[in-house]
Amino acid sequence: MARVTVDAQAARAIEKGAMIVFKKGVVKTEGDFKPGDVVEVYTRGGRFLGKGFVNPDSNIMIRLVTKDRDTRINKELFRERIRKANEYRKKVLGYDRAYRMVYGEADYLPGLIVDRFNEIASIQISSVGMERFKLDVAEAIMEAEPEIETVFEKNTGRSRRREGLPEVERVLLGKEKYRTIIREGKARFIVDMRGQKTGFFLDQRENRIALEKYIRPGMRVLDVFSYTGGFAIHAAVAGAEEVVAVDKSPWAIDMVKENAKLNGVSDRMRYIVGSAFGVMEEMIRKGEKFDVVILDPPAFVQHEKDLKRGLRAYFNINYSGLQLVKDGGILVTASCSQHVDMQAFKDMIIAASAKAGKFLKLLEPYRTQAPDHPILMASKDTEYLKALFLYVEDMK
Ligand code: SAH
Repeated sequence: MARVTVDAQAARAIEKGAMIVFKKGVVKTEGDFKPGDVVEVYTRGGRFLGKGFVNPDSNIMIRLVTKDRDTRINKELFRERIRKANEYRKKVLGYDRAYRMVYGEADYLPGLIVDRFNEIASIQISSVGMERFKLDVAEAIMEAEPEIETVFEKNTGRSRRREGLPEVERVLLGKEKYRTIIREGKARFIVDMRGQKTGFFLDQRENRIALEKYIRPGMRVLDVFSYTGGFAIHAAVAGAEEVVAVDKSPWAIDMVKENAKLNGVSDRMRYIVGSAFGVMEEMIRKGEKFDVVILDPPAFVQHEKDLKRGLRAYFNINYSGLQLVKDGGILVTASCSQHVDMQAFKDMIIAASAKAGKFLKLLEPYRTQAPDHPILMASKDTEYLKALFLYVEDMK
């Protein structure tokens, strides 16, 4: 097996819990390897650190699979880890039929995401190493959870391209099926695997449910970046009088309409296909006000180097959103950018509120991603979602 030697900084990171090695941390390679092969990782002094998948074409050059010398990296290992990951969701977290079954390195399965929606599992693979085990993974999912009849591969997007993997979107194993209806709190949602990411954003589940308790009859609610209506449908189901869903994707807005019908709330919904920035500016010009505004944008910061520009985008969106909340209303604001930590996110919202002339009170403890997207304490990379529930008052 080929050997890779890493510098002191990369070695320290691994010893502290990191499971990835960046290209810049590699000082020497010995033996031949192709992208996706398994290599052993050593310190300069020759101490064994672990083994994992290598991809010399990727900035993340090694994804460790194990730190144990004797553990063999094969389909039995992955089958066992998938079984354990599923059991954690069901037995410890108490999820039932719709949950993230595997969350990459947090489940020691680097480059593998599995979302389960009833009888369908939607998977995303973003490392060449894991790609080789794709069919074994699909079989293991069905074995771990016999109710699953379809494994859909949603292998598209930036992370695939970055690893030099082809983009595919199709049923990989089992019945040809793309849609199912899941339950979430008091709401129900159609999940279509052909939508964005795995089809549905399970990470905001608990935050969407948390919104329900703040909704009173008669309220006007604005859900910006609504996707298929996650927050909007919960607000309507909880009794809001009027809910406006805004998304730039016409497909997403059509799905909000379908979900509204499914939940019997169509009469209280309005829809806008358009860019959030322009739509909100127009609303501010018209003097519109809402009891609750939800802002759940896509990740504005994809790379560390985009931090400044991304924070500006969060600032602009939140500054607009705050102006649309009435005095004594609520702002729910989120960021799914891993590079924006809670402190940076708080600093951004404080600056936006100062400019908008608003006082903010924290309504809920700081919120993050749902527990079926586990945060591995030793790995900063696994923590990404921040959500704040804020009570908004005019500074007068
Ligand atoms: N809140 C949703 C998830 C939002 S995902 C839920 O709970 O399910 C982010 C959404 O923002 C996507 O649907 C995407 O189409 C939309 N989006 C991205 N850029 C946008 C823009 N500039 N204006 C409006 N919508 C945008």
